[in-house]
Amino acid sequence: MILQDTIVALATPSGAGAIAVIRVSGPKAIEIVAPLFQSIKGKDLTKQKSHTLHLGHLVEDTKVYDQVLISLFKGTNSYTGEPTVEISCHGSTFIQQQIIQLLLRKGCRMATPGEFTMRSFLNGKMDLSQAEAVSDLIASDNEASHQIAMQQMRGGFSNEIAKLREELLNFASLIELELDFSEEDVEFADRTAFRELVNRIEFVLKRLIDSFAVGNVIKNGIPVAIVGEPNVGKSTLLNALLNEERAIVSDIAGTTRDTIEDELVINGIGFRFIDTAGIRETKDVVESIGIQKTFEKIEQAQVVLYLFESLKFKEQSSDYIIEIERIKNKYPQKPLVVVINKIDLLSETEIQNIKLQLETLNVKLQTISAKNKIGVEELKNALLNFVDTGALRNNETIITNTRHYDSLLKALEEIEKVKWGLDGNLSADLMAIDIRQALYYFGEITGQVTNDELLGNIFANFCIGK
Ligand code: GDP
Ligand code: ZN
Repeated sequence: MILQDTIVALATPSGAGAIAVIRVSGPKAIEIVAPLFQSIKGKDLTKQKSHTLHLGHLVEDTKVYDQVLISLFKGTNSYTGEPTVEISCHGSTFIQQQIIQLLLRKGCRMATPGEFTMRSFLNGKMDLSQAEAVSDLIASDNEASHQIAMQQMRGGFSNEIAKLREELLNFASLIELELDFSEEDVEFADRTAFRELVNRIEFVLKRLIDSFAVGNVIKNGIPVAIVGEPNVGKSTLLNALLNEERAIVSDIAGTTRDTIEDELVINGIGFRFIDTAGIRETKDVVESIGIQKTFEKIEQAQVVLYLFESLKFKEQSSDYIIEIERIKNKYPQKPLVVVINKIDLLSETEIQNIKLQLETLNVKLQTISAKNKIGVEELKNALLNFVDTGALRNNETIITNTRHYDSLLKALEEIEKVKWGLDGNLSADLMAIDIRQALYYFGEITGQVTNDELLGNIFANFCIGK
C-alpha cells in the first residue's frame, strides 16, 4: 500500500535559511535521485555505501538546479527504515520548490504530515509512543517538557509498558492452557505469582496515571491567574515577570477587561499567566462579566496570584481581608499567593503592619513593587515552590499524552477486574477475558494494537517533513 510510494518533503522550516534539507524516502528514493545527481568526483550514487555524503549538482538535461550535498541511507538503516536520500541545498524558497517539483515529476509523491515518522513506526523503527514523542519533542519549548519528550522518545515509558505486557501475556497463555484441560482440575498459572504480578501492574499503572497531572501541566504550561482590582498593577507585574512590555499598562481603572495570556519559562518550567479583572462589587455590566470570567480563570488556574495595592490595602484592610477569605473559602484547595504591590508608596512600618494583619489568614504573602521590580524574583521562587517537580527531578516516567492516559485508565480498570477475579476464585475462562482486554489496552499505547484511524489521528498532528 502506501509504503510502495517514494515520498518527498522539505524537512527544514519553510522560508529561506542558509541551507534547506529535502527528504526523499521510499523504495525508489536512490533510483529517482541518482540520475539527477552529478557528483563532482563523477561517482554513481547507486554504487556508493550507505551513510555517506556526496557533493555535486542536481541537473536535469542541461538545467543545473543547485549545488547540493547528498546524505545517503541505504536498505533499512535510516529514520524511516527504508532507503532515504537527504538533499541539502541552498536555502532559497525558489530553489527548494524547484527541486521538490523536479522530484515530483520524477515519480515521488508529496509526503503527508508525519508520514516519515509513520513509516518509521510501520517499519518497526520505533513504537507508537516513541513516534508521538517525536512531535512532542519538536513542540517542546522549555526544559521540563523537552526532558519528558526525550525520555519518552528513548523508549523509557514504552519499555516499562512492554515488559509488563510481556509478563501478563505469559500468564494469559498459562491460564488459557488451563481451559484446554478444563475436565481435569489443573492450575498451570501459579495464583500466588499471578497475584504478585497483578499487584505490581496495578502499582505501575496507578503511578503512571497520577503522573499525568504533572505531565499535562508541564506540557501545556502551568496556568497562573493574576487577579486584582483595576489599577493594582497586574499588567505591570506581568511585564516585570516577562521582562517585556507586552500586556497593556494604563492609568484608567478597568482597562484589563479582556483576559491576556502570556507564557514565561522559570527554571525550565513553563508558566501560563492569565491577567484577569478583579472581583470587586460592580453595577457595570461589562465589568460584572469580567468578574464572572475571573472566577472561571481561577477555576482553571493551578496557582492564584491575588494582587492588592498597598495604599488602598492600608485604608480598607478589613474589606480586603474579607475578600481574601471569600476566595479562600470558595477555592480551599487552590494555592493562593496574596501580593501587595506598590510597596514603594508605604513606609517600612506601614508594610510591617499589613504583614501582621495578614498573618492570621495563614496565606502566602509577597510584598512587591512591580514597577520598580522589587520582590519580583522572590515571587518567581514562590511560584516554583507550588510546582511538584519531584517526579521530574527523580527522572520518573511522566505521562503527557491524553491517548496514553486513556489507555492506562482502561487497562487499570481491567486489571482491577482480574484482581477481583483472583479474590473470588473466578473461573479461568472468565479471567482470561479480562486479561486479554488489559493486554489490548497495553498494546494500544505501544502500537502493538492499532488501526488506520488511530494512526491517522496521531500523525495528522505532525508537520509535513517529519
Ligand atoms: P492593572 O489595571 O492591574 O493591570 O494595573 P496596571 O499594571 O495597568 O498599573 C496601573 C498603574 O499603577 C500604572 O500607572 C502603573 O505604572 C502603576 N504601578 C504599577 N506597579 C507599581 C508600583 O510598584 N509602584 C507604583 N508607584 N506604581 C505602580
Ligand atoms: Zn492590566
